[in-house]
Amino acid sequence: MEKVVARARAAFNSGRSRPLEFRIQQLKALERMLKEKEKEILAALHADLHKGGPNAYSHEILGLLAELALVMEKLPSWAAPQPVKKNLMTMRDEAYINFEPLGVVLIIGAWNYPFVLVMQPLIGAIAAGNAVVVKPSEVSENTAKLVADLLPQYLDRELYPVVTGGVPETTELLNQRFDHILYTGNTAVGKIVMAAAAKHLTPVTLELGGKSPCYIDKDCDLSVACRRITWGKYMNCGQTCIAPDYILCDPSIQSQVVENIKATLQEFYGEDVKSSPDYGRIVNKRHFKRVMGLLEGQKIAHGGENDEASCFIAPTILTDVSPDSKVMEEEIFGPVLPIVTMKSVEEAIEFINRREKPLALYVFSNNKKVGLGSGASV
Ligand code: NAD
Repeated sequence: MEKVVARARAAFNSGRSRPLEFRIQQLKALERMLKEKEKEILAALHADLHKGGPNAYSHEILGLLAELALVMEKLPSWAAPQPVKKNLMTMRDEAYINFEPLGVVLIIGAWNYPFVLVMQPLIGAIAAGNAVVVKPSEVSENTAKLVADLLPQYLDRELYPVVTGGVPETTELLNQRFDHILYTGNTAVGKIVMAAAAKHLTPVTLELGGKSPCYIDKDCDLSVACRRITWGKYMNCGQTCIAPDYILCDPSIQSQVVENIKATLQEFYGEDVKSSPDYGRIVNKRHFKRVMGLLEGQKIAHGGENDEASCFIAPTILTDVSPDSKVMEEEIFGPVLPIVTMKSVEEAIEFINRREKPLALYVFSNNKKVGLGSGASV
């Protein structure tokens, strides 16, 4: 590990990652890789998470192509020195802001969008002229292996090495000195990453998770609200960082919410969701057991069917969920949607504000005051 990082640092120190032409050439190579290896990328995503055609392509490839096009177009202006106003102290100087690469960047990815979560930060880091050590998640092993196979075929091997492996390898990597660390994953490991970075005073970017609430007002278009919630909650089998984690609504509309979501599920995934090419699977048995454990003692209004061998859990809705139950403690990260009833918007705001900050908050209401002035802090 020490050698990999030392090699990347020596390559960075050689200065070859700095010229704009070099950065754009590497970004073009990445673009070529996405186009030439599309089939392989989609196959790895399918093997890891049962991600299907259009969904997999739009979630994990399309955005990268757009990002690459944007970065390649804008990079010359973003990287150009910016003049600054002179003051008494600098009036005799040439004063401008010059953008420098940081050095060697470590990117640690998570398994739920395993390709895009390492590639997107890689694009930014290359564009900024850095060397990058890429560490994909071992949980999505097919994609990790593919990233390790592909990057050296397209990019400078010394500047952008890939390290595969799990906790021991990541722990060893974190003992090395980096100039920036970008980590995507759960909060507990986020604390480990930040502590390791602090030893070298390395700045970090932490892309963490959370329990994103979804408030449905009595005064709203329920069919539109439920259609959007169904899409966001059950894509990738609920394993999305900003998926609506739970619903808060008035008890009087709870059953209509359930009926609307059921109808949309049928439209999206058909009679037999298990055979739908658009419905994903839980990434592994450990997470399967964790998500199934959240159903214990709950009232299942829809779904609940499961198959451990294939890590399948049907889209599930829980009703009249107690705020103190297990399913309301941690981020669910699976296709389970609890509904907690609230008597008023004020009660919902108080409920949300009492908990850890979520990544996103969804409000469905025809009343602008409920959405904009909700007072819930995100
Ligand atoms: P994971 O298990 O793949 O872990 C993430 C990375 O941390 C992996 O590369 C793994 O090797 C490493 N790691 C795990 N344990 C470690 C340890 N003890 N020491 C050092 N490194 C370790 O992924 P996960 O944590 O299950 O990811 C899911 C979480 O990520 C969810 O909370 C989700 O919301 C969040 N997430 C956030 C975003 C975002 O953009 N904010 C995007 C996707 C996922």
